[in-house]
Amino acid sequence: TETPAALTILFGATGDLAKRKLYPSLYRLYRKGHLSSGFAVIGTARREWDNDIFREHVKKSVMESTNIQDQIDEFISHFYYLPHDVSDSNSYAELRTLANELDSKYSLGGNRLFYLAMAPEFFGTIAEHLKLDGLTDTEGFGRLVIEKPFGHDLPSAQELNAQIRRSFDEKDIYRIDHYLGKEMVQNIETIRFANALFEPLWNSRYISNIQITSSETLGVEERGGYYETSGALKDMVQNHMLQMVALLAMEPPISLQDDDIRSEKVRAFRSMRPLTLETVNDYFVRGQYGPGDHVPGYREEINVDPDSNTETYVAGKVMFDNFRWAGVPFYIRTGKRMPLKSTKIVVQFKDIPMNLYYRPDDQEMEPNLLVIHIQPEEGITLHLNAKKSGRQLQTTPVKLSYANNGEDIMNTPEAYEKLIHDAMRGDSTNFTHWDEVALSWSFVDVIAEAWRNEKAAFPNYPAGTKGPKAADELLEKDGFFWWPLN
Ligand code: NAD
Repeated sequence: TETPAALTILFGATGDLAKRKLYPSLYRLYRKGHLSSGFAVIGTARREWDNDIFREHVKKSVMESTNIQDQIDEFISHFYYLPHDVSDSNSYAELRTLANELDSKYSLGGNRLFYLAMAPEFFGTIAEHLKLDGLTDTEGFGRLVIEKPFGHDLPSAQELNAQIRRSFDEKDIYRIDHYLGKEMVQNIETIRFANALFEPLWNSRYISNIQITSSETLGVEERGGYYETSGALKDMVQNHMLQMVALLAMEPPISLQDDDIRSEKVRAFRSMRPLTLETVNDYFVRGQYGPGDHVPGYREEINVDPDSNTETYVAGKVMFDNFRWAGVPFYIRTGKRMPLKSTKIVVQFKDIPMNLYYRPDDQEMEPNLLVIHIQPEEGITLHLNAKKSGRQLQTTPVKLSYANNGEDIMNTPEAYEKLIHDAMRGDSTNFTHWDEVALSWSFVDVIAEAWRNEKAAFPNYPAGTKGPKAADELLEKDGFFWWPLN
């Protein structure tokens, strides 16, 4: 589908996300011809900037992200700026006047994308004002794009949702989970459903367990203040990790329409075995990094309580009590200050019965694995066993790899680029529906509560290591182990 002409109104235009991701993504869309002359952007934030300062800022942020700069001056001429106070109706009246002007100037047909790239405590207020002060009152579409976090537990998410639903229909709300914009996350579906080799085996008869790891090498950096109120469970598990779990576990959709895919994901969330306060510690473990080589421990970071109970690492086991997955653990782990930055999925197939080729002295014989590399590498690797050449019947591991090469990766749209483009075209497949948000919060809330009630023995892994011992034990008690990070 063509990208319709539209006005983007960006709240938080002077912020970090806008600078690092949104302007470069808009520029890439522009260069690829996805934004016709029919586009304009109004940036708003507290600072008293004007159009010129804003345009220079946008230009700089684009130039920092790419060395290609053709038509950059034409591109930035579509950007406008208004200082804005999110709770003042006068601000919205000014915004409305400018929006209507640009609407006729660029023939935008009243199509509007309201992009909220600022602190979540303002999401509700802004959404309400947009309707109250007439900004949504146009001929064209009015879509709300919101960043994470969507609440900090189920009740706060419900409250926020009720607030924004007073101004926007569910179909016009685009909740960003930028993992869903990643090339290889989108590829999970294709790998599963477009291959006769995988889908017939994609169940408890042939798969022994699935492992999803998202590790970071960085610590909390300057975000200590925010992170203290969040932690790895809310920052990573509730959204990104569970979204990947749902894509791996869901049933084939009846079509590729956004509603059809989303309803299968929702069904997957509904079949996750719920935890109770008593069972949480059998399924989930937490960690916090202590000092490592030349780096401070979490409790020594800026704006962090020296006695903090916040987890920087989570590992867990998710079970699906349904026909396809009964008995197959989905293990997830995510943490800061681990040895390597990587996101990948390992699907471990069951050993075949009575393997005649297996010898006890054969160290190399491994089960079949399908590895989906999400970042920084993008690709898949299939681990097989073949015969070692020579007379003896010895096996040797063979890896079939497909990697997006450097050029593919360069041309691969960035997650944000794809998501902005999708929102403009009205494709909500890769955004999270309210039902998914609610179900994942109710799953995670129990874990958070159990952990709030019980102080952890932190720190329990040194910075730069692969996490606490308890994470290994979580798999060992099921007879499994984590496949190596690299
Ligand atoms: P930021 O603090 O860098 O920017 C916040 C923006 O909001 C600024 O433009 C500021 O002027 C504006 N603002 C703040 N208070 C205001 C007020 N009262 N009235 C008007 N404007 C006001 O934040 P950020 O890092 O860009 O993050 C924005 C959102 O994106 C957050 O929801 C965050 O969780 C989410 N997010 C950020 C990143 C990232 O990489 N930075 C990644 C994922 C999600």
